[in-house]
Amino acid sequence: MAIQNNKIVIIGAGLAGLFAALKLAPLSVILVTSKKLGSGTSSQWAQAGIAAAVGKFDSVTSHLNDTVQVGGGIVDEKIAELVIKNGPERVNDLISLGVPFDVDENKNLILRKEAAHEHNRIVSVRGDMTGKKIMEVLTKLVGNSSHIEVVEGQNAVELHQENNAVYGVTIQNMSKQTYIESNCIMLATGGIGQLYKVTTNSKEALGDGVGMAARCGAILSDMEFVQFHPTAFDIGIDPAPLATEALRGEGAKIINSKYENFMRDAHPEAELAPRDIVARAIFSEQKKSGQVYLDCRGDLGVRMINDFPTVYELCKKNDINPENDPIPISPAAHYHMGGIGVDEYGRTNIIGLYACGENACSGIHGANRLASNSLLEAIAFADIISKDIKDQINKYEVKKKNPKIVRVKPLDQQDLLRLRETMTKYVGVERDQVGLERAFDIVRNIYIKYQDQGYDNNSLITSLLIIKSAINRTEQRGSHYRTDHPYQDNKLNSRSSITKEDLNL
Ligand SMILES: Cc1cc2nc3c(=O)[nH]c(=O)nc-3n(C[C@H](O)[C@H](O)[C@H](O)COP(=O)(O)OP(=O)(O)OC[C@H]3O[C@@H](n4cnc5c(N)ncnc54)[C@H](O)[C@@H]3O)c2cc1C
Repeated sequence: MAIQNNKIVIIGAGLAGLFAALKLAPLSVILVTSKKLGSGTSSQWAQAGIAAAVGKFDSVTSHLNDTVQVGGGIVDEKIAELVIKNGPERVNDLISLGVPFDVDENKNLILRKEAAHEHNRIVSVRGDMTGKKIMEVLTKLVGNSSHIEVVEGQNAVELHQENNAVYGVTIQNMSKQTYIESNCIMLATGGIGQLYKVTTNSKEALGDGVGMAARCGAILSDMEFVQFHPTAFDIGIDPAPLATEALRGEGAKIINSKYENFMRDAHPEAELAPRDIVARAIFSEQKKSGQVYLDCRGDLGVRMINDFPTVYELCKKNDINPENDPIPISPAAHYHMGGIGVDEYGRTNIIGLYACGENACSGIHGANRLASNSLLEAIAFADIISKDIKDQINKYEVKKKNPKIVRVKPLDQQDLLRLRETMTKYVGVERDQVGLERAFDIVRNIYIKYQDQGYDNNSLITSLLIIKSAINRTEQRGSHYRTDHPYQDNKLNSRSSITKEDLNL
């Protein structure tokens, strides 16, 4: 079946997809999502909030400095400044749309502090319900918008291009395929966490957008940089629930099984050190002494019911009383700094193809993301892209073409598990050449098996691009820690890029 429409197509209905769809009014939009609208996103799970320089003593310069400081020397400062400058206005947009950010008795925004931020600058809703509340508001608005047609329960599997211009996308549900003709497509499929065995990301975060874009000829950037959240609940749940960073901002300590606090030895800022340092300290303590805990006992544990209701509920559900019991934690794949390379307009190298949110790589995060900068990037670029599309849409050539036959198959359970175990073991918090090459061979063999059956697969391509980029970067930088090259190499002081061709499959 084919939908002949030449409307703008957005793939993915997280914060990036929904906000862009709303901003594109009055242009007609088809919004495709693999789940029901309002579910299957990482956005709805975001706890801490959005970083924005809105405080009285805060400034764009300070926010930019913090972003650059944690980004491992390769943040694109022009892009970072663009996004950060956008922050206050976009937060106001969300307020106008009805997002109930927390305010004090004078109706001023309450600004919270997170690790590696100089100032209190995180706007949130009910402490740790930010993503849930934002998504509730936007989902309702999208559902009621006449310019948006929502296509639910469909996976985008292949983009079609000719002469480097996109002309359509194939979506599928089980084996039934639909072709949507469009000369303007925005990918907003979220992250890659589910390529790892331990992750905080939703089940849909399988790297589909990145894989599809790569197969269509897009350039990917900074793929080796995967952020591991240091403090996911380690209680055998997939995805692993998050104990928000804001808890450490409020004084929670990290302790080992002997109840010793070991973070001071790892970094002068201890619990408030950048994420990669905290994650590695926990990882190495786990190897040394076993289980690691987040200690919220005492006053913070008592306040948790009001100040961090999501974490409190999770504790209760799992028989943990945070007033008296430390919470078992572990690092978990959390955020992908890399992705589909985009410029300051959110455009990829393929004409008419945009990428926004976590599947895009604009360069704001460099080698490591500053906490709460990802929701900010999603809303800033959703706005930038919607303006660019309005400006450019008539320049994109309309192509009426018969779609080619597409054979893309999701991974079966066994192969998915093998992939996830391989990525966690060899491409995780710590990496080395031997392990990365082993990972590449394992994943390539799974890929060849699918090819031999006549199928392609987006998750496998995304994984191979991550592994290959990690092999290429023979140094330690940001979230990318090579135990065989444990120092930063100034010769590698630049962003990376890769295409599917570089995989030599
Ligand atoms: C637990 C948790 C807490 C976080 N807390 C914060 C925070 O406090 N602050 C912050 O800035 N960031 C936070 N992050 C990161 C942030 O939430 C994400 O980076 C951001 O929400 C990504 O938004 P997105 O719109 O790009 O993707 P998502 O919200 O993940 O949405 C992706 C969408 O794409 C759809 N999709 C995927 N594949 C396909 C396909 N093939 N076809 C069709 N649809 C598809 C999915 O169903 C979904 O609708 C957190 C992340 C997690 C997991």
